Amino acid sequence: MAKIFCIANQKGGVGKTTTTVNLAAGLARIGQRVLLVDLDPQGNATMGSGLDKRALVQTVYDVLLGSASVREARQTMDPVGYDVLGANRELAGAEVELVHLEHRDRRLKAALAEVQDDYDFILIDCPPSLSLLTLNGLTCAHGVIVPMQCEYFALEGLSDLVNSIKQVHANLNRDLSIIGLLRVMFDPRITLQQQVSEQLQAHFGEKVFQTIIPRNVRLAEAPSYGLPGVVFDPNAKGSQAFIAFAQELVDRVGLPAAKKKAPSRKA
Ligand code: ADP
Ligand code: MG
Repeated sequence: MAKIFCIANQKGGVGKTTTTVNLAAGLARIGQRVLLVDLDPQGNATMGSGLDKRALVQTVYDVLLGSASVREARQTMDPVGYDVLGANRELAGAEVELVHLEHRDRRLKAALAEVQDDYDFILIDCPPSLSLLTLNGLTCAHGVIVPMQCEYFALEGLSDLVNSIKQVHANLNRDLSIIGLLRVMFDPRITLQQQVSEQLQAHFGEKVFQTIIPRNVRLAEAPSYGLPGVVFDPNAKGSQAFIAFAQELVDRVGLPAAKKKAPSRKA
C-alpha cells in the first residue's frame, strides 16, 4: 500500500513544486514506485515532469469530478521515472463544481484507493491555499511534508498551517500528521537563515528533516527542460540533496521488509 504524502505550505513560491518533482524523481532513483498528483491549477508539477498541461486529455479534474479513473488519467513518464496525474487550468473550476457534489472533500481519497497497491509513494503537490483542493489532498494523506525557507515570516505562516492540519486531523483524517519540515533554498552564508534554521530545530526537534536543500540554480533551470533537477543534472548540489532527502524519507517512514533487504545484501 502506497504511503500518501501532501507537499503543502499555504505560502506560494516556497518550493512545494520543486520539492514534489525532485522527491518523486529521487524516490524513483532508489527503486520506489511513485505517482505524482498535481493538485495545483497552475500545473507546474505537470510541466516540470515533462507533461504538456495544454495537451492533456484527462487530468486530476476529471478524476475529482468522477468522469475518469486514476488509471485512465495517469501518464507514465519514462524520462523522469514516475507516473503523473496531471493538472491544468481546468482544475480551478473544480473548486466551485465540487461544492455541489457528495463527499466533496474526500473524492481524491476514493479515487486513489484503486491504485494504492501500484505504488510505494503517492506525492501530492498542493496549491498555496487551504482550498477544497488542498482539503482533498490532506484528507487522503498519511502525512504532510512542509517545505520552507528559513526566513523570518516563515515561522508565522507555519502556525496557520499547523492549525489547519490539526483541524483536518480532528474532523476528516485521523491518520494525518506532519512527517517533517524541509528546509529549502537554503543559503548558509545568510546569518538570518542559520538563525531561523536553529529556531526551527529548537522548536520542532526531530520533525525537522536532517537534509537541507541548498539554493541551487540547476534546480531552478530544470523545469524549462520539462525535467526535475534530479534528472536534468543529478550531480548538481541541489539534486544530490534531494536524492539524500528521498533516502531520509524512506528511512523515516519505514518500508516493507522485502524492500529493506536490498541495502543489507550489499553490505
Ligand atoms: P511553490 O510550488 O511553493 O510555489 P516552486 O517550487 O515553484 O514553489 O519554487 C518557486 C521558485 O523558486 C521557482 O522558480 C523555483 O525554480 C525556485 N526554486 C525552488 N527551490 C529552489 C532551490 N532550492 N534553488 C533555487 N531555486 C529554487
Ligand atoms: Mg507550486
